[in-house]
Amino acid sequence: MAPSTAKEAYVTLCTNDSYAIGVLVWVESLKEVGTTRQIVVMITNGLSQKMKEQLAESADKVVEVNVLDSRDNVNLDLLARPDLGVTFTKLHCWRLTEYDKCVFMDADTLVLKNIDDLFEKEEFSAAPDPGWPDCFNSGVYVYKPSLETYQKLLKFAVQSGSFDGGDQGLLNSYYTNWNRISFLYNCVAQSFYSYLPAFKQFGKDVKVAHFIGAVKPWHHSFDVSTGKVSESEFSGHCADFLRHWWNLFVSRVHKRLPEEISPTFPK
Ligand code: UDP
Ligand code: MN
Repeated sequence: MAPSTAKEAYVTLCTNDSYAIGVLVWVESLKEVGTTRQIVVMITNGLSQKMKEQLAESADKVVEVNVLDSRDNVNLDLLARPDLGVTFTKLHCWRLTEYDKCVFMDADTLVLKNIDDLFEKEEFSAAPDPGWPDCFNSGVYVYKPSLETYQKLLKFAVQSGSFDGGDQGLLNSYYTNWNRISFLYNCVAQSFYSYLPAFKQFGKDVKVAHFIGAVKPWHHSFDVSTGKVSESEFSGHCADFLRHWWNLFVSRVHKRLPEEISPTFPK
């Protein structure tokens, strides 16, 4: 491994056992494509002990974060903005200063091809959001950890809030000069239904699928004998991406999970 690679990491966040299932599959997807970078998971005290153990076994590092853990003024101001809870938790990724550069990825992303070339990009790089392509989608972004940036972001958040109530609105207001990376690095897994010919042309090149929305892959169930995912509720997610997620779950994650936190499998 080249010396520089040890200082670069993929980072994600989960605040409960449900999203942690997504993280376990995300980690396996990164390993499957042979990443040479570190894998870091930020967690909060909302996870069960058993799940924390699973994450510690699969990732290179698990960091417990808490938005109220420091006593500075900005954090005190945050107490008045409980609406931005998970958003602020995500901002903790800027505090991982033992790394020179990181790629943050949502827990509902799935890596299909090696994306280590993202570390050649600078802060702040992200892919356009299909809902409003002048904005980036904050499910995948390249950034540089820095305590100074972290403080600036917190201050900005407290003063300006977020136009969508989440991290995406906040980060888009802060990083107005973002660098655009290809949509292939953060393919919102149902958006191509609005542009099917483009998906037919480019879909095979997708590097990261992102299962946005309230219904996540782990809310479905999977029939091992047919290899089919049964959609309990309509999610509009691409069936191939969903199947890929479930194949990884069944082959690499399910047997390690305690029964009580396993999703609806097998049916
Ligand atoms: N997240 C979390 N707990 C929550 C909600 C969100 O840990 O209760 C984290 C998780 O990493 C998730 C990310 O924040 O992937 C963004 O939320 P989500 O992916 O649900 O938003 P969407 O992509 O659907 O807009
Ligand atoms: Mn997401």
